[in-house]
Amino acid sequence: MKPTFSIIAPIFNEFESLPELRRRVSEVMDGLGEPWELLLIDDGSTDGSTERIRELAAQDERIRPIIFARNFGHQIAVTAGLDYSRGDAVVIIDADLQDPPELIAEMVARWREGYEVVYAVRAEREGESAFKLWTASLFYRIIYRITDVKIPMDTGDFRLMDRKVVNVMNSMREKARFLRGMSAWVGFRQVGVPYKRAARFAGSTKYPFRKMLKLAITAITGFSHLPLQIATWIGFVAAGISLIFIPIVIIERLIGKQAFFGQATTLVAVLFLGGVQLICLGILGEYIGRIYDEVKGRPLYIVREAPEKEQE
Ligand code: UDP
Ligand code: MG
Repeated sequence: MKPTFSIIAPIFNEFESLPELRRRVSEVMDGLGEPWELLLIDDGSTDGSTERIRELAAQDERIRPIIFARNFGHQIAVTAGLDYSRGDAVVIIDADLQDPPELIAEMVARWREGYEVVYAVRAEREGESAFKLWTASLFYRIIYRITDVKIPMDTGDFRLMDRKVVNVMNSMREKARFLRGMSAWVGFRQVGVPYKRAARFAGSTKYPFRKMLKLAITAITGFSHLPLQIATWIGFVAAGISLIFIPIVIIERLIGKQAFFGQATTLVAVLFLGGVQLICLGILGEYIGRIYDEVKGRPLYIVREAPEKEQE
């Protein structure tokens, strides 16, 4: 039977959280009184999570496992969940229980009011380092200012999406994926619900600074051309300054003044412009690399085991 609700949880080494996740999600979803499914996507875990997912699925047919051939990353794991989901409303939730499953009931209530995307806004965060809080906050603000879509601030991937939205998202096969941006980009009626982000139930973060930075660059390049335009701006400024100084230097020379001294001035100017040019080349390279990834047309993920995909 086709479920009304699909819950998607990406899992990368969350061995200890899994039973608790299952328990809390079941409790909330049973309370709603409609059929549901829980999609557990194993993103190349190495700590026994895979076996645990299989066990849970064997005990409860509402739990559907998708096992990846290797680690593809959080955003891709969620994408697979969206691809395999069958519900009329789909909820993305972190497996570490930082997103309280109890909030799903509230999200469903907003969905029934007619909202097609209900995103959870982190009003408070617990158990995270000052560095993580600061970088996250900076990240959301930069993205908000420079991208063309207004991606709500302080929201993660914890959200409920209507089937209509999920179908649109599933048709967007871009390789570099920033799901919260994509889900804002599609439009529809969207609303936020505030919540308190808890500390991890167990284990440690699977998002070290390196991965956070990668996600930030994906978000910026995926939703803005601003970095590409920086070169143009710097070019205009540099050319403008030169236009002012060329006549000054010529005149000062003609009237016999020694306006500039030695090689140091030249060297500084050359090094500065050389640096700026290399940075601009790097930005270009970032976009070109992404074009290359798209052109190769490789699949987004490879599954080792997965349920039959629903044919519409
Ligand atoms: N995750 C994943 N693949 C990865 C990294 C993380 O599937 O390569 C999952 C992880 O198991 C968790 C969710 O994505 O369910 C969020 O990760 P995490 O809690 O480590 O991020 P944080 O909350 O610290 O930002
Ligand atoms: Mg977490």
